Amino acid sequence: MKTAKTVMEVRSYVKTWKAEGKTIGLVPTMGFLHQGHGSLIKKAVEENDIVIVSDFVNPIQFGPGEDLESYPRDFEADKKLCERLGADLIFHPEPEEMYDKPCTAVDMTVLSDGLCGSKRPGHFRGVCTVVSKLFNITKADRAYFGQKDAQQLFIIKKMVADLNFDIEIVGCPIIREEDGLAMSSRNSYLSEEERKAALCLYKAVKRGMEIITKNMPAATLIEAMTAVIENEPMARIDYISVVDLEELKELKSIDKPALVAMAVYIGKTRLIDNFLYEL
Ligand code: AMP
Repeated sequence: MKTAKTVMEVRSYVKTWKAEGKTIGLVPTMGFLHQGHGSLIKKAVEENDIVIVSDFVNPIQFGPGEDLESYPRDFEADKKLCERLGADLIFHPEPEEMYDKPCTAVDMTVLSDGLCGSKRPGHFRGVCTVVSKLFNITKADRAYFGQKDAQQLFIIKKMVADLNFDIEIVGCPIIREEDGLAMSSRNSYLSEEERKAALCLYKAVKRGMEIITKNMPAATLIEAMTAVIENEPMARIDYISVVDLEELKELKSIDKPALVAMAVYIGKTRLIDNFLYEL
């Protein structure tokens, strides 16, 4: 497996692969890889001749006071996992390589207004900008994103359609720990006690999936899920929302396919989880 730190290196590998007629799959990540990332890499390896994993803690998607500095990093372990899963190239640039006093950004309206977008202003602008750059740098045929970050997946699909990127976006299911907690690099922040408390997110998802029915009021669903979280003293709800799948607008009643998404603080750690309801 190759490692690249510069855009020029990636471009030169990509040029050779393209000349050989090879298809390229891209897995964008912020590193500190776990089996959730691994599932994306495996799928990319199955479906493409070449797999590029980007491993970059993207500074412009973090807001002031967020965890950019403390975000966990372990590039050596990431390299091992990528190599073991059959990736061909890991792209690990420094922030200066990606951003040289930029004047340009890719922004999104409507889909980024609610859910995490309303809680983290500028976050999806940072995500759309870095993902656009990665699409241009790697010239990938397919890119793999997790359903865990459901709003991000919707936004990237819409960005690709709106801006005519010539790439297929592949969504991949949420990978969970044995007890149900969605895998996340941020789980490493949790103390032993917090790790136990964090299970309330999955409990709330399960409760939601059990009781959701067509045409029920969204408020009833949110109340039931809120009660599960509030039963855990270490947890503080950032939001629990039920939105449609076209514009990610709040639904009053579950009368169409819906995304039920939440963000919950466990101590200082903000975790997310979600499920889809297809009617
Ligand atoms: P991150 O490194 O957190 O930015 O995540 C990189 C990619 O991995 C994103 O597309 C995430 O949605 C995906 N991902 C992270 N955690 C999981 C998980 N538990 N299951 C599936 N995909 C995940």
